[in-house]
Amino acid sequence: MSDYSIRSNLNTLNEFSRTDNGVTRLAFSTEEQKGKKFMRTLFQNEGLAVREDEIGNMIARREGINPQAPAVAIGSHIDSVIEGGEYDGTIGVLSGLEVVKRLNKKQIVTTNPVEIIVFTCEESTRFGVSTIGSKVMTGLSKTEGLGNLKDFDGKTFAEVLEEVGLDITKISRAKRSSYDLKLFLEMHIEQGPLLQQLGKKIGVVTGIASPTRLQLRVQGKASHSGTTQMHNRKDALTGASEIALEVEKLGRSEANNDTVATTGVFGVGPGVMNVVPGSVEMKIDIRSTSPTSKQYVLEQVIKKIGQIKTERDLSIEWNLLSDEKPVHLSSEVITSLSRNCKELSIPYTAMSSGAGHDAMNMSYICPTGLIFVPSCDGISHHPDEYTEVEDMILGIDVLEKTMLEWAGVSGRPIPTGGEGCERSRG
Ligand SMILES: [Zn+2]
Repeated sequence: MSDYSIRSNLNTLNEFSRTDNGVTRLAFSTEEQKGKKFMRTLFQNEGLAVREDEIGNMIARREGINPQAPAVAIGSHIDSVIEGGEYDGTIGVLSGLEVVKRLNKKQIVTTNPVEIIVFTCEESTRFGVSTIGSKVMTGLSKTEGLGNLKDFDGKTFAEVLEEVGLDITKISRAKRSSYDLKLFLEMHIEQGPLLQQLGKKIGVVTGIASPTRLQLRVQGKASHSGTTQMHNRKDALTGASEIALEVEKLGRSEANNDTVATTGVFGVGPGVMNVVPGSVEMKIDIRSTSPTSKQYVLEQVIKKIGQIKTERDLSIEWNLLSDEKPVHLSSEVITSLSRNCKELSIPYTAMSSGAGHDAMNMSYICPTGLIFVPSCDGISHHPDEYTEVEDMILGIDVLEKTMLEWAGVSGRPIPTGGEGCERSRG
């Protein structure tokens, strides 16, 4: 019979941060600290050694036969967006706990140590930068880049760390390498509708799309909507709209390459009904697992900007906010996860991830695998986020099997006397 304890642990974890509308558990907040305290107790109850590193990632460890060997780790995050759902990140951490509980119950001794990692500050909600905990653990982010980031109250990242007893000047000590980790696995909700639409229970992620982001300022001339004749206008909104439509068209034409393109910010100035719009602030987000496709879309958007500038006599300034490389996950781990889905008779599909996860950073230091479980109606970052407990358990089955494959089963301790007595009585 399946063990549904992940459901009750999830409820308790979310109790600390429930609001009238969903869950709010921001990085380094009191709510997150309470959540971590709860996780620490759960880990300790399973006999794990728990520590927190210099950036606030929590690491729970179950030793193997060879304590010097690199660990096989499962992890995710427990911080959330504002008024988010109950499943994002949390199920990844709790699934690691369930795997360890199964090992303990079966008295399995592994060759390599097993770890569960609770990453800190995965969501960009508080500081505008995502996956900070795993970026620091993998050396992708350093003190200089983080210290001066500010949250919405104007507190710097350094000050917020200090509030929870951490020191920004020491965060580089949290860095780990392939000597420390043999494998990293993450189970996450899909946050999209594909698995549900395909009737699959597991998504084995092959690549994680990375964003290229552009910021634009389209400058025309604000003028009276009644007295400015049509041929005399420099309408920033209609010019910007042509760019936004081109962004959508390019995204559609590159859909076969898993490319998506979005104009997510479109701020019109002065935004008055009887004034021809004089300026537009735009932000464009292009994502793909194919660098070639992403580059093509970017080049076409830039070309369109030039064309609109000339045709409509507008001034358009733009700059690249970010241009990150897509991540391709380890083919060895993908094979391992896919084979285990097959052997467990769990319907699965290979797919890419449009959203970033801690796994993408971990892939820089060790072979990494990411699996998705279905999100009901694809809803996420919203109070209606929902994943069936049965689906989570299938994910845990895959994690357990894959983890054991990589950690190596060294044996089971000799059963204690009790079992023999039972048998003789029977
Ligand atoms: Zn997440």
